[in-house]
Amino acid sequence: MAKNYKMYINGEWVDSSDGGTFEVYDPGNGELLGTVPIATKEDVDKAFVAARAAQKEYALSPLKDRMDLCYRISEEILKRKEEIATMISREQGKTYDDSLYEVGEVALNFDMSARNFQRLDGEIITAYDGDMRMILTYEAYGVYASITPWNYPILQASEYIGPAMVTGSCGVAKPASPTPLSMLLLAECMESAGAPKGVCNIITGPGASVGEAMVTHPECDLVCFTGEDKTGARIEDIVGLKKCIMELGGTGPSIVLDDADMKKAAQQVAEGAFYNNGQVCCATERVLVQETCKEEFMKELMEVVKTYKFGYWNEPGIRMGSMNSEKPVQKVEAHLKDGLEKGAVILTGGKRAEGMPSNLYFEPTVVDNVTKDMLLYRDETFGPVIPISTFTTDDDAIEQANYNGFGLIMSIFSNNMKRTNYITRRLVTGGVNVNISSGYWEAELPFGGGGGTKSGYGRMGGLHILKEMTYTKCVFVDFNGC
Ligand code: NDP
Repeated sequence: MAKNYKMYINGEWVDSSDGGTFEVYDPGNGELLGTVPIATKEDVDKAFVAARAAQKEYALSPLKDRMDLCYRISEEILKRKEEIATMISREQGKTYDDSLYEVGEVALNFDMSARNFQRLDGEIITAYDGDMRMILTYEAYGVYASITPWNYPILQASEYIGPAMVTGSCGVAKPASPTPLSMLLLAECMESAGAPKGVCNIITGPGASVGEAMVTHPECDLVCFTGEDKTGARIEDIVGLKKCIMELGGTGPSIVLDDADMKKAAQQVAEGAFYNNGQVCCATERVLVQETCKEEFMKELMEVVKTYKFGYWNEPGIRMGSMNSEKPVQKVEAHLKDGLEKGAVILTGGKRAEGMPSNLYFEPTVVDNVTKDMLLYRDETFGPVIPISTFTTDDDAIEQANYNGFGLIMSIFSNNMKRTNYITRRLVTGGVNVNISSGYWEAELPFGGGGGTKSGYGRMGGLHILKEMTYTKCVFVDFNGC
C-alpha cells in the first residue's frame, strides 16, 4: 500500500515545511509506491545548519567511535537486506538479484571505509633542520552535499556517505527523484545504528530546485556529485570555489581485436550492455570490432543475446527488469531512430516489449553499422543496446574509442599483450578493463573519469575516495622547542 514518507533532518523524520510532496511509482507495473516531501529552501537550510552544528564535534570524536558507527550501519543494512533490495527493485525496476548485490555493496562501503581510513598513509617529511619535521594528516573536509542518480539508488550515495562518516565530515544527501525510497531506508539504518543527529541528513525533491539550493548553500564545503555531464557542468557553473567530486557519464567503448577469445568477448560485451538494462555509467555502449573478425564475433554475440530474459523484478530466471522511467526509454528510442535514419541496421530488439505489466520494458537490442555521425556513437544511450562499429588498424580503434570525449572505463579484448598495451597507453580514460566487460567494477577500484574528459574527475572507491573527501594538513614541528 502506498505510504507517505518523510525526510530525515537533524535526527528527526519530517515533512516538507510547506507540505509539498511528489509521487513515486514502481516502473515495472505502474503502481504508486508512495509520496515523498519536496524540501523547501528552509528545509535545505535546516539540514545544512544541522550538519554544520554536528560536524565540529563529530570531526574531533575518537576515530574508533566513527569506525564502530560505520560497522554498525553496515550490520543494520545487512540485517534488512531483503527489505532494502525489494525497495530498490520496486522503485528502480532492476532484478531482485541485482538489488541484493547493490545492498551488499552499500554495506561494504561503510565497512570498507572504516577499515581503510587507518591505512591512509600520512607522511612525515624531514625538514632542512634535522630536528624539525613536517607531519601530513588527512582532515575531515567539512560539510558535504551528496547528489546522486537513480540507476543505483543507494550505492552511489553510500560511496560518499560511508567515507564522510569515518573521516569526520557531515552532510546532506539527496537521492534522485525517481528513486528516493531506499535512501530513506538507509536513513533508518543510520538511525538504528546510533548515528548522532545531524551527521547525515537525507532530503528529497527535484534537482533543479533542491539540488541547486544544496550545492550553493553557504554551509556546503564539498560537492559530491554523480550524474550526467550536463548536470555536472551546471553545478560547476553555480558553486564558485567549492571543491567538487564529479562522477559523470561514459560510453564504455569495447575494442574486440581479431586475436581475442570471441566467445568470452561476446559474453562480456552482452553483460556490459544489458546489466541493469544498460543504465550504468560504465555500460558497454559502443562495440568496436576489428573488421577481420566481425563475422565470428557477431555469430557468438547473437547466440548470447538470445539467452537474456527480462520481466518484472521478482520473476525467476530473468536477467533484466524494466527500465526506470519514460525519460530513459525515450532517449533510447530517439538514438535508435537517429541511427536508422543514418543507415544503422537493427539485428534484434529495437522496441518496447509488448504484453508486459508496464510500458517500460525494452527488448535487448543489437544494432549494426553504427557510425560517427550517430547519437548512438556520440552520446550516452543508457539503455539495453549494443551498437556495433568496425575498425581496421589498432590506431583506428584508439581514435574511435577516444572520439566522443567520454573517458570513464574502456575495454579491450585480446590475447596479445603487446597490442593491448599499445592501445591501453593511448586511451584517454580513467580505467581500462582487459578481457573484462567495461561494466565490471569492484568497491576498491579507483573509479572515475580520465584526462579532462566529459566523464568528470575525482576517484571513488577504496582509499581513493577517502583522500578525495579529506584535505591535507601539514603540521610543521620544531622538536627542539619542546
Ligand atoms: P542527472 O544528472 O539528471 O541527475 C543526477 C542527480 O542530480 C539527481 O539526484 C538529480 O535530481 C540531480 N540534479 C538534476 N539537476 C540538478 C541541478 N541543476 N542541480 C543539482 N542537482 C541536480 O542524472 P541521472 O539521474 O539521469 O543519472 C544518469 C547519469 O548518471 C548518466 O549520465 C550516468 O552515466 C551518470 N552516472 C555516473 C556514474 C559515475 O560513477 N561516473 C555512476 C552512475 C551514473 P532529480 O532526480 O530530482 O532531477
